[in-house]
Amino acid sequence: DGLTLHEVEANVWELERDDGMDVPARVFANEDLLEHIKDDRTLSQLRNVACMPGAVAPALCMPDGHQGYGFPVGGVAAFDAEDGCISPGGVGFDINCGVRMVKTNLTYEDVRGREEELVEALFDAVPCGLGGGGVHDGNHTDLEKALERGVDWCLEEGYAVREDLEHCEDEGMRPDADPDAVSKKAKDRGASQMGSLGSGNHFLEIQRVTDVYDDETADAFGLAEDQLVVLIHCGSRGLGHQVCSDYLRRIEQEHPEFLEELPDKDLAAAPAGSEVAEDYYGAMCAAINFAWVNRQLITHAVRETFADVFDASWQDLEMDLLYDVAHNIAKRETHDVYVTEDGYSLDGDGGRVERDLYVHRKGATRAFPAGHPEVPKAYRDVGQPVIIPGSMGAGSYVLKGGDGSLDRSFGSTAHGAGRLMSRTQAKDEYWGGDVADDLREQNEIYVKAASGSTIAEEAPGVYKDVDEVVGVSDDLGIGDLVVRTFPVCNVKG
Ligand code: 5GP
Ligand code: MN
Ligand code: MN
Repeated sequence: DGLTLHEVEANVWELERDDGMDVPARVFANEDLLEHIKDDRTLSQLRNVACMPGAVAPALCMPDGHQGYGFPVGGVAAFDAEDGCISPGGVGFDINCGVRMVKTNLTYEDVRGREEELVEALFDAVPCGLGGGGVHDGNHTDLEKALERGVDWCLEEGYAVREDLEHCEDEGMRPDADPDAVSKKAKDRGASQMGSLGSGNHFLEIQRVTDVYDDETADAFGLAEDQLVVLIHCGSRGLGHQVCSDYLRRIEQEHPEFLEELPDKDLAAAPAGSEVAEDYYGAMCAAINFAWVNRQLITHAVRETFADVFDASWQDLEMDLLYDVAHNIAKRETHDVYVTEDGYSLDGDGGRVERDLYVHRKGATRAFPAGHPEVPKAYRDVGQPVIIPGSMGAGSYVLKGGDGSLDRSFGSTAHGAGRLMSRTQAKDEYWGGDVADDLREQNEIYVKAASGSTIAEEAPGVYKDVDEVVGVSDDLGIGDLVVRTFPVCNVKG
């Protein structure tokens, strides 16, 4: 796209400023990852984000970044909550897509040879694929409560224990949720999908801990080598998708003049303080709650399945929630920023001021450091757990929020390995059956999916090298390595 970058320090690249950009834009990557990032529209999308009203410097792309709808995936963008904007494209269609890790006291030896049995049982217990149906037989009354109260509703219904709430970002509930701002169409889609994995990139994976990099933090997280853990990745299903579509349309209708000024229609944003901005925020927060309920209901089904298969209660199996993090979200957060000639910025000198910002993390994970009041008590001394999946054939990582995250990235880091190629390209390149056979033969990983094409679209080769992504995060001190895990078996949505 004719954009040039210069290296500001190791792993930090800045886009050459042009007149349209209100603030600097920065990429966190090593040279290899940067080559991939240059390969698609990521950089021009990042540049566009830096042109948006009320942008707080810098606009950021994480090391797993790739092009997305309007904003890049792997993008972190903060806009002033008073005179900036909020953008559905900066959150993504799958509102509060995220990951949670459930621990067990089992080891790899306990499941070895029983992978197929376990996967079949999980496949029966957790609805997946495009169809309807969920762990909870949903109706509109329950849905309203879930939208309003998130995991707190699960607690009342016996789907969660108190500790589950404590170990969830925002304790599994966004108090700003406004179910009335969610359309009937969105609710109709959600009511029949309460507790379902969805399709494609979403998964439920049994993993074993292979490496421990930081003993003290691993201890605090309750993780040890060879331990079996469960990773659940899914979001707000059709409900969140519909909320995003509904508000993109409303913004087009109600703020055409605002849209005119944006460099790309797909960036559609609502001016802070407008009615549509308030409504979108309320609806998005309700969808956030829905996604947390979704992951909690799946957790419940996973616990029951393990209890069945291993003939012990889930409490005896110590299937406690390590943590649940969102990676498609916008939140009103207060950050310390400098006043500069470009407006507010993370960089500067002199005194700092507190500002309320809409922090957009799209394909990016919150990574608050030790001591932050929003880190759960059990982890307050070490930092917030950050969960970064790799692929069904590669390692995944648990990091802790780094001491540099608030100063560098509004308290954020990467969310995965990030895609190298589109789903269409992937289907040309791979055949689902072969991918599954290879995983089984070469790595003893047992995978089952709702359809063969899903396995092709999600072949390990379609993703970047997650080791490099987490390496950059660790080097920059925004999210530090704690443990690595490796897949044992996997249910693909
Ligand atoms: P996204 O939310 O952007 O679709 O994906 C999050 C990340 O999950 C991807 O960037 C990829 O690194 C990772 N991922 C996708 N499929 C799998 C899987 O089956 N297992 C694991 N462990 N990670 C996956
Ligand atoms: Mn998703
Ligand atoms: Mn996701």
